[in-house]
Amino acid sequence: MSTFPPGFRWGVSTASYQIEGAVNEDGRGKSIWDTFAHSVGAIADGSTGDVACDSYHLVDDDVALMAELGVNAYRFSVAWPRIQPTGAGPALAAGLSYYDRLVDKLLAADIDPVATLFHWDLPQALQDAGGWANRDTAARMGEYAELVGSALGDRVKLWITLNEPFIHFSLGHVLGTHAPGLTLMNDQLPIAHHQLLGHGLAVAALRGVTRSPITLANNYTPVRPCSDSDADQAAALVYDTLHNRLFTDPILLGAYPVGYEMLSTVDVDSIVLEGDLEVISQPLDALGVNYYNPTVILGPPPDSQLPFLPMPPPEGTPVTAFGWPIAPSGLREELVILKSRYGASLPPVYITESGCSFPEIEDQNRVSYLDSHIEAVRSAIDDGVDVRGYFVWSLLDNFEWAEGFTQRFGLVHVDFGTLTRTRKASFGWYQRFIASQSS
Ligand code: BGC
Repeated sequence: MSTFPPGFRWGVSTASYQIEGAVNEDGRGKSIWDTFAHSVGAIADGSTGDVACDSYHLVDDDVALMAELGVNAYRFSVAWPRIQPTGAGPALAAGLSYYDRLVDKLLAADIDPVATLFHWDLPQALQDAGGWANRDTAARMGEYAELVGSALGDRVKLWITLNEPFIHFSLGHVLGTHAPGLTLMNDQLPIAHHQLLGHGLAVAALRGVTRSPITLANNYTPVRPCSDSDADQAAALVYDTLHNRLFTDPILLGAYPVGYEMLSTVDVDSIVLEGDLEVISQPLDALGVNYYNPTVILGPPPDSQLPFLPMPPPEGTPVTAFGWPIAPSGLREELVILKSRYGASLPPVYITESGCSFPEIEDQNRVSYLDSHIEAVRSAIDDGVDVRGYFVWSLLDNFEWAEGFTQRFGLVHVDFGTLTRTRKASFGWYQRFIASQSS
């Protein structure tokens, strides 16, 4: 008997640069991740996404794996530089055709295509013109959305504009551990604002060419102060504002959260122009929630450049191979926080990513992780949160950004030498779980 609402989507997620490879094929332009991954010392094991899982060529195998798994939805991302090699101009037919064929293969296998437009692989040419610091990038995002939406809008069942703008902002533009590798300590507001504006312009463009629902995928984390001290509590509040509210309040409430001015040393009104918040806050059909773990925050040490310090999990906390705390209750908590924070402004929610890194093929740790997190979603539904789907990150072990191939999140093991795919224990578990939901 099904315990989740009828029509619930059980899926898996991936992203273009992490799985596709084929970086020089069919006219694809360079992205900031090509540049970054090829910089000395940027990636833990010196690897790149040049080949990754080679899903560009092995796409039939990957769709067959999903059909066998029994998922009814697949979240993939479109590589912007395959569609517009320089981030502007008409769509490249060869690039579009890869996604066109992917979408048809998915539909033929009864799997709903869920397309993310931007999962961090910005065309390098746009970065050379300033990237997200440049307001024009938001306009380019709108044009790109229209091109992809016009080609696939009749078949994609759910659109995701941006993936985790906060992570792209913080790791890519503040800490410099992700592409484009910037360490902006001041004037970060344009990076945030132009991503938000790009989201809004993409929503507007998609509305013109498709009737399918539209969302974005944000990363959320319940924030816990390290202690009751005023300094730790204040720091936790700042972190919560940045991580959880900066990319949600403007979209769902049409206003930046209190304190966002800290991101700018110049006049905010020169960045947030009249009418921008209306574009950003156009109604959405859903909210995508990516959840991995809660975050413990310490007040900043005296010489710190940041107003908070994220801490390792307390001693004894179970962790993944990545060292990330395992806390399924945090997923329920986060969903309840979203509901109480946004009330009637919160649209239906999809868990657009949930998963963990463990190296084993007999991955009982991943089975327990997924089982407990799905149960947390179940509890949140009981608490009144309207959750419509759960997507495991990820179908395949893949190029885990700055960690290269050292962290494995897949239900399917990939040998990065031979590209052989091997089903893990968690693949069989998720397959049986999904089957039990429809019986
Ligand atoms: C990203 C994925 C990434 C995963 C695990 C999310 O932040 O959207 O691309 O692989 O987390 O780190």
